[in-house]
Amino acid sequence: MPHLQILQDVFGYPAFRGPQLEIIEHVINGGDALVLMPTGGGKSLCYQIPAIARQRAGLGMSIVISPLIALMHDQVGALHEAGVSAAFLNSTLTGEEAHQVEQRMLRGELTLLYAAPERVTTPRFLALLDSLRQRGQLSLFAIDEVHCVSQWGHDFRPEYRALTVLHERFPGVPRMALTATADALTRDDILERLQLQDARAFVSSFDRPNIRYTIVEKRDGTQQLLRFIEREHEGEAGIVYCQSRRKVEDIAQTLVDAGVHALPYHAGLDAKVRQANQNQFLREEGIVMVATIAFGMGIDKPDVRFVAHLDMPKNIEGYYQETGRAGRDGLPAHAWMGYGLQDVVNQRRMIDESPAAEEFKQGLRGKLDALLGLAEATDCRRVRLLAYFGEQLGEGGNYSCRNCDNCLNPPAIWDGTQAARKLLSTIYRIQQSSGMSFGAGHLMDIVRGKVTEKVSQHGHAALSTFGVGADLSEMQLRGVLRQLIAMGAVAVDAQAFNTLQLTDKSRAVLRAEVSVQLRESASSPSERKRKRSGAGAAAIRAPIALDGAALERYAALKAWRAEVARGHNLPAYVIFHDATLATIAQRAPHSLGDLQGISGIGAKKLEAYAQEVLRVVAEV
Ligand code: ADP
Ligand code: ZN
Repeated sequence: MPHLQILQDVFGYPAFRGPQLEIIEHVINGGDALVLMPTGGGKSLCYQIPAIARQRAGLGMSIVISPLIALMHDQVGALHEAGVSAAFLNSTLTGEEAHQVEQRMLRGELTLLYAAPERVTTPRFLALLDSLRQRGQLSLFAIDEVHCVSQWGHDFRPEYRALTVLHERFPGVPRMALTATADALTRDDILERLQLQDARAFVSSFDRPNIRYTIVEKRDGTQQLLRFIEREHEGEAGIVYCQSRRKVEDIAQTLVDAGVHALPYHAGLDAKVRQANQNQFLREEGIVMVATIAFGMGIDKPDVRFVAHLDMPKNIEGYYQETGRAGRDGLPAHAWMGYGLQDVVNQRRMIDESPAAEEFKQGLRGKLDALLGLAEATDCRRVRLLAYFGEQLGEGGNYSCRNCDNCLNPPAIWDGTQAARKLLSTIYRIQQSSGMSFGAGHLMDIVRGKVTEKVSQHGHAALSTFGVGADLSEMQLRGVLRQLIAMGAVAVDAQAFNTLQLTDKSRAVLRAEVSVQLRESASSPSERKRKRSGAGAAAIRAPIALDGAALERYAALKAWRAEVARGHNLPAYVIFHDATLATIAQRAPHSLGDLQGISGIGAKKLEAYAQEVLRVVAEV
């Protein structure tokens, strides 16, 4: 099998993962393909190996279309490290540099070219492709992040629409379209927009078993986040998502003050600063990026150990895409989200206030509801997530993934139906007696029987429901209210100071036709103290268990790798992954032969780095 040989020789990996082999065979043989695979699933090899195989068979070069201009340099650098001839064309190049790349294309020197969609569809570039095509030297189009073609995807880019020209102008050249966005609406849209109806679809399981999902009730979000990082991910790379630029700045500062190496990233920062922060995150170890969702698309850093959400995203697609950036290397990683009443209110308000058509808003609300359902779930989070993408885990109910908060620590559940009725009837009575509506804080005070200034001023102590919930904590009542809002039984009026109103759905709850089940607000597993091994806080963490001497070798190898990476102006993981260095450290190789067969060491890297690696190991 020539493709297995490419996998082993060029990339140094022993075996294909999941559906890679099937996809690669199909494309090498000239078929069109739609590849849906979760982040970290290994999409790049699905086009890189066919590109290499077809080039070797004399069929010419492959074009990879991607919107991720900032990453092209590193992607091409990684191919160079593996000994593959590649280049990129985008707006970061000078006219002269771009011209050089075009000349190399025409001379047949390249196996892969990465280009932005707006570049590919220029008349000049199309003419270049024509001349390659005429000589039978245009082998494949790989359209990455292809959900950008659909307005149902989360990142619509009009430039992608123009890519239909490829198949109209080069009908015989195989095309493959790749994405990590899986929902059916987006998928159908991609097929239609790019006229890929005849392409074979490869849909992988979207499960990411190495990611642990945890969703906690937000109290003092920032402190909870800080504890989560300090107790479970000290010194490790992670991403923290926040909704607003302002919050990004605040949280980044708080983390820095607490001794965490954190950097901010949002669209309001100067482009240079943004780029510098992203580079630092990619190139240095153990950095926490605090960011809006402007950050992260296509970030292919494999050793991100956690992704934390301090604000709730808009929908499950977004949540899954963002959390999917953790643990691409397949090693244990953590997706953590803090979630509270305010998140529900904010998200509902953003939809209500958007200028979109009502029908479109209805679609957005449905997507938000699915995410709220996930956050409120008392059963397996993974089952819920995958069900959203049309995938079923296990037979029947009660499946345990053993790697989400609910499966690891099943939450106690209490029946909040009575409490819900108390809240709803109080909202009703307030409205009746005052002819106006109030917000959540005032409602809680009345139900809990607290005589505040506002309560006295409006005579609300006289309401028949005053104090009916005195036995409940504010936290419990907030939980109930959050769920009522989540299920649409209470509406929040954004135009009027977030006041609360009854809806058509309130009646069913008041009549006790639907029940409200809530999780007990126990401290979540992530907040429990985790005992550290005796090694001390500054100890280096390896992805596999290493003894003292091996750990020293690992540290020395990492230091060497950092130097090489700096010299090549590339991220460290492009030289070798952590897992590769850890395996080397464990084996303590003395000869070239000892290095052979370690996952991640291909022929080119063996040639380039073996001597130095052996020297570093020998010197420890
Ligand atoms: P995606 O683009 O689907 O998010 P990548 O192509 O970046 O994922 O691959 C994720 C990681 O998995 C990369 O570090 C890649 O080198 C690694 N990888 C991919 N395929 C294999 C394989 N067959 N064996 C070992 N590692 C692999
Ligand atoms: Zn689970």
